[in-house]
Amino acid sequence: MSERKYQICSNCIMDTSDPGIVFDERGWCDYCCNYYNDILPNWHPDEQGEKMLAPVIEKIKQDGQGRDHDCLIGISGGVDSSYITYLAKEKFGLKPLIFHIDTGWNSDLSVSNVNKMIDGLHLDLHTEVVDWLEMKDLQVAFLKSQVPYQDLPQDLAIFSALYNFAAKNNFKYIITGANYSTECVRGPLEWTYYLTDMRHVRDIHQRFGQRPLKTFPTADIFKYKLYYRFVKGVRVIKPLDYMPYIKENAIQELVARFGWQRYEHKHHESRFTRFYEGYWLPKKFGYDKRRTYFSSLILTKQMTREEAIERIAKLDLDEQTISQEFEYVAKKLDLTVAELWELFHGEKKTYRDYKNNLALINLGTRVLQMLGVEKRVMR
Ligand SMILES: [Zn+2]
Repeated sequence: MSERKYQICSNCIMDTSDPGIVFDERGWCDYCCNYYNDILPNWHPDEQGEKMLAPVIEKIKQDGQGRDHDCLIGISGGVDSSYITYLAKEKFGLKPLIFHIDTGWNSDLSVSNVNKMIDGLHLDLHTEVVDWLEMKDLQVAFLKSQVPYQDLPQDLAIFSALYNFAAKNNFKYIITGANYSTECVRGPLEWTYYLTDMRHVRDIHQRFGQRPLKTFPTADIFKYKLYYRFVKGVRVIKPLDYMPYIKENAIQELVARFGWQRYEHKHHESRFTRFYEGYWLPKKFGYDKRRTYFSSLILTKQMTREEAIERIAKLDLDEQTISQEFEYVAKKLDLTVAELWELFHGEKKTYRDYKNNLALINLGTRVLQMLGVEKRVMR
């Protein structure tokens, strides 16, 4: 395969480190075109959105009458999930049960932020702790598989535990802080593979894992998209898409109201994620997830392209922190620092090197896009 000539979008900062990116004659990438053509015209973070959301909130309240809780919210301690927790209780007047999953990698700051939200709003918190031996086994299996998306085991646990809990306890509504405003650029599958492709996860675990996953939370994409949605009737509501959502304002509100503390960088509520997104992924694969975060903020006018280019030019973690984190992560995963570096320097692989359900998932995604449910570029 011939090396592609480097190109960066002239409107956002996505570039040819996304192997499938295409540019139009203006030099704008397909994420930008997708945003202006498909997302923006259908997105109403304004009065129209408020009018659309109001009856949904009303229905949640009605359906939850006589119950202790009318909806479920997963909280990580990050901005989006903290802010939606605040809105649900104080602005919408809902009775949420707050769900937190502990994968073993919580930063002290995230734990403190979760507690501040729970205490400040007098909410009920349900915490599930993933069996650490299984978590570790799956993470080490992924490291050995050499695929880029090393955060899949954590994301799978967080996502599946929430949905499994909702279905098991008859919650009809999951409210999430997912939003277009800060996440309209998803990035390609090479960077973030489908976490619910259990055929893929099982293949990697079978080849490189050492202990059976007995209690590890999983939810196959078909169970999630079909069984939970249509049989159990679990609906996912994303209220932040129906109102103006400016990240910096949300942070300031949380700080003032709850003494919430800001993170230096997105997704640094998990120490593994900080290590993996801050060093492993950009240095080993050349994939810098900040490109998708910053590009989303550029498109929604919360950051300038110049500022993004300046920030992306250097890593978020300095040399000393990186070497400390190699020690911390290796020790926690029962590897030696040398073994972890050896894995870091090992041959790179992709999702194509392992069994997967991509053909079926692509078909399903095309159906969702035709129905207008999924509007972001997925490839
Ligand atoms: Zn672009």
